[in-house]
Amino acid sequence: MSKKLEDCVTTIPDFPKPGIMFRDITTIISDPEGFKMAVDQLCDMVKGMDIDIVVGSESRGFIFGAPVAYALGKGFVMARKKGKLPRETISETYDLEYGSATLEMHKDSIRPGMKVFLVDDLVATGGTTAAIIKMVEKLGGKVVKIGFVMELAGFDAKNKALKGYDVESLISYP
Ligand code: IMP
Repeated sequence: MSKKLEDCVTTIPDFPKPGIMFRDITTIISDPEGFKMAVDQLCDMVKGMDIDIVVGSESRGFIFGAPVAYALGKGFVMARKKGKLPRETISETYDLEYGSATLEMHKDSIRPGMKVFLVDDLVATGGTTAAIIKMVEKLGGKVVKIGFVMELAGFDAKNKALKGYDVESLISYP
């Protein structure tokens, strides 16, 4: 039987704290078959769709988003942690389990009317992704597809934080 993407994920119980089942992508990307499967399957999500640009967030969103953009023949835009981007930025602050975080994008990275494919490694509550959507929309872009390698379905991001968007995940965990 051929290898499945799920087989390349390592699950670590009680990391970073007791009760959390941590889904580790390092064993996807260190496996040439696993990495190719993930990138190819993310590209398949937008097959036949009209997209202009791929956006990914620091840092694991870069790992998947950049090769997806390359394979699709599109550009890649980084949503980075606060203070890293050198030119004029737009920013969004969002809640984490403890405290908050801020992501930034260059103001000129998305032009009005651009159709965006947002890529990330994992969605839990969808808070991180919702912050990126806000920035893209403030810049006049339209998020036409959101692709994750993994979703933690128990948080129900598809019907909560990301409700109304076209969201797909390659692997779903409860
Ligand atoms: P959200 O903003 O609640 O959707 O959380 C998404 C972020 O949480 C991801 O980008 C990861 O950085 C992090 N995260 C939460 N659980 C896991 C996990 O099991 N594996 C890897 N990252 C995780």
